Amino acid sequence: MALKTVSDHFRQHAEDWTLFEQAKDYALDYMRTVLDRPVFPEKNAIEGLEAFRSKLPEDPVDPHEILTKLNRFGSPATVAQTGGRYFGFVNGGVIPAALAAKWLGDAWDQNAALYVISPVMSVLEEICEEWLVDLLGLPENTAAGFVGGSSTATLCGLAAGRDYLLRRQGWDVNGQGLFGAPPIRVVLGEGAHSTVYKALSILGLGKDRLIKVPEDDQGRIRADSLPELDDKTLLILQAGNVNSGAFDPFAEICGNARAAGAWTHIDGAFGLWAAASPKLQSLTDGYSQADSWSVDAHKTLNAPYDNGIILCRHREALAQALHMTGSYIVYSQNRDGMLYTPDMSRRGRAVELWASLMALGRSGTAELVEDLHQKAQYLAMSLEKEGFQIRNEVCFNQVLVSCDNSDITNKVLDNIQQSGECWCGPAQWKGEKIIRISVCSYRTTKTDLDRTVTAFVKARQES
Ligand SMILES: *Cc1c(COP(=O)(O)O)cnc(C)c1O
Repeated sequence: MALKTVSDHFRQHAEDWTLFEQAKDYALDYMRTVLDRPVFPEKNAIEGLEAFRSKLPEDPVDPHEILTKLNRFGSPATVAQTGGRYFGFVNGGVIPAALAAKWLGDAWDQNAALYVISPVMSVLEEICEEWLVDLLGLPENTAAGFVGGSSTATLCGLAAGRDYLLRRQGWDVNGQGLFGAPPIRVVLGEGAHSTVYKALSILGLGKDRLIKVPEDDQGRIRADSLPELDDKTLLILQAGNVNSGAFDPFAEICGNARAAGAWTHIDGAFGLWAAASPKLQSLTDGYSQADSWSVDAHKTLNAPYDNGIILCRHREALAQALHMTGSYIVYSQNRDGMLYTPDMSRRGRAVELWASLMALGRSGTAELVEDLHQKAQYLAMSLEKEGFQIRNEVCFNQVLVSCDNSDITNKVLDNIQQSGECWCGPAQWKGEKIIRISVCSYRTTKTDLDRTVTAFVKARQES
């Protein structure tokens, strides 16, 4: 047995602390310089990514060399979204304590499936569940499942709703599938996020037989255009239209939906956090009457990726929809996280969520949310002063911008994206292409906002 195996090779590196020091040095160097990096990688940095396109190595590669390569070619090609001037999609920054906690959690490499696999993850998830229900003002005993993002969270919430509505009609989806099932109706706003459509099609609810309800000028579902709701209806609302940030009028809808026996899911990927702010929580009035909610900690809360949560009033319904069994699966008296997620093995993302909530506390969470809102308002006001058109009421953290005509808007967006100074993306809004800004990072300062306005003005001059 003199053969040197790959296990020997790894055993040797498992205690090569210099390897982890090297990773730490690169990471710290990245964090120290991120504010000065181009917000979107430059052309030569992207060309540098070709360095990764090699053949699969036949033999193990030295781990120091692996890190060197990642840092040399990977770091410059990152999008500097942890800096202060990234406004694309709805990508949050990273709270320092949460990132540091993630590093530690990565060293633990826990599997959050079951209590017996990881007691620490079970307990942290239990605590996060309790805190979120409290912080967001949700019904007592609401269950939380910790998943990768809102796409999955919405899938879970709608699966629970579908099964619940059908079970009440005497149909067991787990057993019979959807073949021959009594119909249920799906009602949603025309502005629903694309991930909602994806979830519905995965769940066998189709996309052609949905009832789409018109939205108002801000992208809120029109309560007066809703069809009559009944106990065979799956209703999908949103807290935070992905473009305008507008909130559906929950107070007008959720109570009635509940009384009619419908299941209401609220996609609150970034907007649900408004409920944690005394100043903004009126946006969510009435939303606790819903049945399930999806939210991302990696957006507004500024937790690192990936961190989504499904919250469900009906603990049993969520667990039944996502349930699996196997003779080796040992359920305990304690929380078994896999009951509430589609995955069995899952990383311990509650480490970062717990650390984020600890680092912010109740007041810090409220302040963070309000700060993003104020910065969005300031940016909108400053851009408007410079002659840009603001296309939405800035009720939360989203700002929709256009120029005198769509030609100029397109060119300004192009120039902005090339500038390296800041980054935002496009959207279709009321039939027009516009520039979409999401203020989503605690790191953004007033100086960043002023620099962004200057970049917009310059981009227009060059258009
Ligand atoms: C981001 C977003 C999603 C998708 O969430 P992921 O975390 O990217 O899966 C769904 N709905 C809305 C409104 C969003 O903003």
